[in-house]
Amino acid sequence: MNRSYMPMIDNGLFVLEYYLDKPYNQITINDLFDSINYFAEKIGHFIETKEFYRKVVYSTHMNSSFTQIPKGKSKETIIKEQFQELLENIGNDKECIYCSNKRVNINLNIDRKFMYGLVSQTFYNSSNNLQTVDVCPICAYLSMISILNIQKIGMPTLYISDSDDFMRSITKSNQTILDEQNNLDELFNIPSNLKSTKLIEIALLDISNIGYITQFCFQNSGQLIGEVERTIYKKDIELLKRLDNKGLLEEFMSFGLHDRLALGRSLVTDMVYCSSRLLKELEVFELKEEEKKIIEYAADTLIEIEDSNKLLKEIKLCNTQSKFNNFILNYSEKKALVKDVKHYDILTGYNWAKYRDYINMHILIQKNKEAV
Ligand SMILES: [Zn+2]
Repeated sequence: MNRSYMPMIDNGLFVLEYYLDKPYNQITINDLFDSINYFAEKIGHFIETKEFYRKVVYSTHMNSSFTQIPKGKSKETIIKEQFQELLENIGNDKECIYCSNKRVNINLNIDRKFMYGLVSQTFYNSSNNLQTVDVCPICAYLSMISILNIQKIGMPTLYISDSDDFMRSITKSNQTILDEQNNLDELFNIPSNLKSTKLIEIALLDISNIGYITQFCFQNSGQLIGEVERTIYKKDIELLKRLDNKGLLEEFMSFGLHDRLALGRSLVTDMVYCSSRLLKELEVFELKEEEKKIIEYAADTLIEIEDSNKLLKEIKLCNTQSKFNNFILNYSEKKALVKDVKHYDILTGYNWAKYRDYINMHILIQKNKEAV
């Protein structure tokens, strides 16, 4: 098997790897058949005995065997039958849009009950232009067993990363919890407002060479379909580890900057007042060396010619590019805020709001130093 980098399919693959104790690229279709009984029993048991699973399957695999009420059969049996139906119907009609293998069976309906992101059967029945979905039964099977890697952070949540080591680590951690804990709700049912916090926590795991980690929160039930994605990249992970080593992570998070980082937003805003140590780290992270020098020079010059409280009030009013431009020009008449006139264009150009916020921060820190 190969990775598809789709959250549900890849998490199923790593769950499979974990239980078969065999690297995913050596797993064969026969291994999949051999795993049916094991996973049907395990998942059936969890759905019947664990409150967490009994509920979560309604938001991940609605209308599948996971949510069907068995009639005269055990839960395990109906899951087993559905798994078997999938794997016994591997076709060769078309290439799968996710794994690229020619395993699609156009006579088998693969829809939303198996996987997030697919249209529901009822929808494409009524809409003639969507006849079928080219997803293969193997991807559908993997997507079903990804349930064992699901946590809930407000919504059902899976992590996906380019790093196999990361995927193995998170899978092992989840499976250990599953096998050892009775009260899953404590560890797997996490309040929605901790999305970024949890992402930052796992980014600090001791795993090297991670290109990205995406936290994929999704809803796949009834009429409700939706998703929230937060991604942190290699550079972000390095920043977090640096902050952690220097004892600045707590301060960073206290301003909600981890949330901004995870959502790809600029870190410093006029709402933030952090320590000069943290500011230095943020500048190194967000600004080029030249930008840093321009900002420092402008801020230092402003403080020389005007009272910092007055400056801060005025900067607060610079909520548009032209207002900020005027602010810079007015003070430039008193004394040049830049060493090179070309720097005016940089300061007031495309990234003006970011520079405004950094100048603001420098003045705040300077003012704080004076107060001490
Ligand atoms: Zn596939």
